[in-house]
Amino acid sequence: MSSTLRFLRAPMRGVVVPLTEVPDPVFAEGAMGPGIAIDPLGETLHAPCNGEIIQCARTAHAITLRDDANHEWLLHIGLDTVDLDGDGFELLVATGERVSAGDPLCRFDADRLAQRAKALVTPIVLTNGPDTTLEALVAPGTIVEMGEDLLQWQATSAAVATAGLDDAGSEASANGEFASGEAVIASASGLHARPAARLRAIARQHAVELTLIRTGEDQSAEIDIDIGNDNDNDNDNAKASAASLSALLNLGLVQGDRVRVVARGSSAQAAVDAATTLLETAEADATQRDVPPQSQAEGQRQASRTSGGGGLTGLVASAGLVVGPLVRYEMALPPVPDSAADTEQEREALTSALRDVDTTLVQAMQAAQAGGQQAEAEIFEAHRAWLDDPDLRGAAEAEIDNGRSAGRAWFLALEREIQRLRDGDNALLAARADDLRDLQRQVMQLFATEAAAIISGLDGAILVARELTPSQFVAVADRIAGLCLASGGLTSHVSILARARGLPCLVAMGDGLLEARSDNACLDSRGDGRHGVLELAPDAQRLAAIDAEQVRQRRQTESERAAAFEPVTTLDGRRLHVAANIATRAEARSAARSGADGVGLMRSEFLFLERQTAPTLAEQQAEYRAAVEAMDGKPVVVRLLDIGADKQLPYLRLPATPNPALGERGVRLWQTQPALFETQLDALLEAGRDLPLCEDGLTALRLMVPMVADVGELRWVRQRLASRAASLGIERLPALGVMIEVPTAALCADDLAREADFLSIGTNDLTQYALAMDREVASLALRSDVLHPGVLRLIASCLDGASGQCPVAVCGAAAGDPLAGALLAAMGVDELSVEPGRIAAVKAGLRRLDAGALAARLPSLLALADAAAVRQALQELSGSLLEEAPAGDDGVTGASGQRVEAAHSSPGEAKPGTGSADPDASHTTTRS
Ligand code: PEP
Ligand code: MG
Repeated sequence: MSSTLRFLRAPMRGVVVPLTEVPDPVFAEGAMGPGIAIDPLGETLHAPCNGEIIQCARTAHAITLRDDANHEWLLHIGLDTVDLDGDGFELLVATGERVSAGDPLCRFDADRLAQRAKALVTPIVLTNGPDTTLEALVAPGTIVEMGEDLLQWQATSAAVATAGLDDAGSEASANGEFASGEAVIASASGLHARPAARLRAIARQHAVELTLIRTGEDQSAEIDIDIGNDNDNDNDNAKASAASLSALLNLGLVQGDRVRVVARGSSAQAAVDAATTLLETAEADATQRDVPPQSQAEGQRQASRTSGGGGLTGLVASAGLVVGPLVRYEMALPPVPDSAADTEQEREALTSALRDVDTTLVQAMQAAQAGGQQAEAEIFEAHRAWLDDPDLRGAAEAEIDNGRSAGRAWFLALEREIQRLRDGDNALLAARADDLRDLQRQVMQLFATEAAAIISGLDGAILVARELTPSQFVAVADRIAGLCLASGGLTSHVSILARARGLPCLVAMGDGLLEARSDNACLDSRGDGRHGVLELAPDAQRLAAIDAEQVRQRRQTESERAAAFEPVTTLDGRRLHVAANIATRAEARSAARSGADGVGLMRSEFLFLERQTAPTLAEQQAEYRAAVEAMDGKPVVVRLLDIGADKQLPYLRLPATPNPALGERGVRLWQTQPALFETQLDALLEAGRDLPLCEDGLTALRLMVPMVADVGELRWVRQRLASRAASLGIERLPALGVMIEVPTAALCADDLAREADFLSIGTNDLTQYALAMDREVASLALRSDVLHPGVLRLIASCLDGASGQCPVAVCGAAAGDPLAGALLAAMGVDELSVEPGRIAAVKAGLRRLDAGALAARLPSLLALADAAAVRQALQELSGSLLEEAPAGDDGVTGASGQRVEAAHSSPGEAKPGTGSADPDASHTTTRS
């Protein structure tokens, strides 16, 4: 491949600015191509080389010049200058005109632009050589004179060929090499958006025109190789240009289909080789490739497994049994204006909207890559390819020419495509329609006249989604009967919220879920406590059995509820508290109605979500006070704002970090957000002012610090609390506790317990950090188990450290897990804090537990190899020692039916960990 050194001259006098510093992400991030910019000191733009003017913007602010080697240079005077609508510009050339280097192209009024435009800085961008490396010949910040050499680059023959390709049928490609090859589609998912996007990338990378032709059974079919952007899917040998994603997908290629790959251009053979390899590689699905080898089999077992009855399985995030229609979660499309008069303006608006969405996708892609989420990054890349699809864009522009607004035109263009994909009988293509819908919405959003509503038909439905944010969940939770997520983990926040509401929920079901359809599905998330099933077509017999089962469950629940207000004592006489995890005052009321012995965790950050500004001091105070009043003298532990990781506030723009779960969150964040933090302290101090003390001698309203790594952080919070109390004239400080979520905190619990009023183990994060397994990652959900012997040892260390110093609760999801909850109680925790809907069942389970007998097994459990072995051992232990359920249970063991009995030990003896046998008696002073 030959290469030539080429030069570009400065088109004006001015200060040289690197493109990355241009204050417009479209230029700065290279979305338009490589280049440089000049902050002008003159008022005329000149030709930087010989060539032909191929485009002059109607508004005269931008000119594209094709040089003699087919490179296309965009010269864009100022930023956002399209808005000036030609005011201040005088074009001196016309499209089609030949110019020589130095010829004046456009005069502009710099003063006028400086007053009205975003900036005068003028990008000079090579738009059809994305991979070309340009070298600046003038240092940034120095002044370059008009006509001076500005850039140089090595132009390879391939790069020169690229330059011609954006013009269909250009001479460069027509004269290039020709190659063709055959391939059989290997991917089980057929030719879907991601490999289609990769085909397009291959065509670009090799600077060729690449066409795919479906050859059907008859491999010897003579193909009419008429390369161009015309795509023809109506005959047997349908063909599509790789430049058009929709045309490629329209081929409807599925596993086993034969195609001919044809390329024209100087690297035609290399492109054909790359394309056929791609098509013949079964691993073309990024979702499969990106699962680490050791977890792939397990991930597939857990995520993609279909049940015997033709349903789909998932992990039980919240137990239950419901029947209802499946409804796919999506937001309604935003309303946009229907028509517009100025065609040119609408075309520009569409271009700029597509560019904006592309910029967002680039950012999302980069964030996904930085976070190691390659599969996700490729989805964004595929979305970018759709955005750039000439067929879709052409269809939208035709609608604009018919008088539609840009937003409406985009809607119509994509709608036809979406319906076509959905109406076909190819399930894979139908699933791609969801990608297009997403893109349709994103672009329309930029033209929206008001906010979009949430889809209808949710009442009583089983909602299906890839994933949901906590705020999306909260917006629909009251209306749906159940929830199924393709993604997610057992301790992700949506799982927690679903449990809080007693809403049946399965997670980590895999992408197959998104293609499921049913008007009457059954979500059965009782299972063995880990797996549940979504049955898509339960027959009449099965529906009758489900009915009977629901009646039986109701009776069991009623009998457990009847005893929910009684204190809990285990079979061997240990007293435990069962408290509630809540997020709002409404949930505090539900906790009180459920028989909770207090609130063990109020996740205060949920007051801060789903709004545009932080709640005021008064709003917060009212919420905290209402929670305490609802619990009527029982303790309420408010966890101080725990923002970060998956809980982000729209008004608190945290710096992007590759791994937010390890970044500034919890207590670490407060030091940088003093106003937010201190307002919350003030609200809590006011809400707790003058309340009577609880039976244990501590204040009724208690504060808890999340994500503590060492005692210094606790001291800092206590000092801030004391200072805020002093300034409010409050003498009695509320009790202050520490969450044990960071492994170092578990190991240093003795230091923390000496200064804290109580500890509460956040097993969700403790497990995540101890095992280095992200709690949001579906493929790790099964292995991210608190019963790992290493995590249990951390918990044992925490209980040892706190022993005799302060009580220890558990407020992570493990507290409500039948097997883990029993073990934690046996290990010596004083309180289990669970979702209100689980209180009665957990209390019933504890009453049937012989904690001492189970504690005696602890050393052998801790010596096991992994979580699965511990879970299995506990299961067997409970199975062999299980006692009949008491009368009223109807002979049924519910989700919390663990019952481990052995020789009864006397009260108090069985507690190897901390405090006394009575949690109420374990601690009586408030530290200050
Ligand atoms: C935990 O980490 O266990 C916990 C209770 O906090 P959250 O789940 O809100 O992070
Ligand atoms: Mg946590």
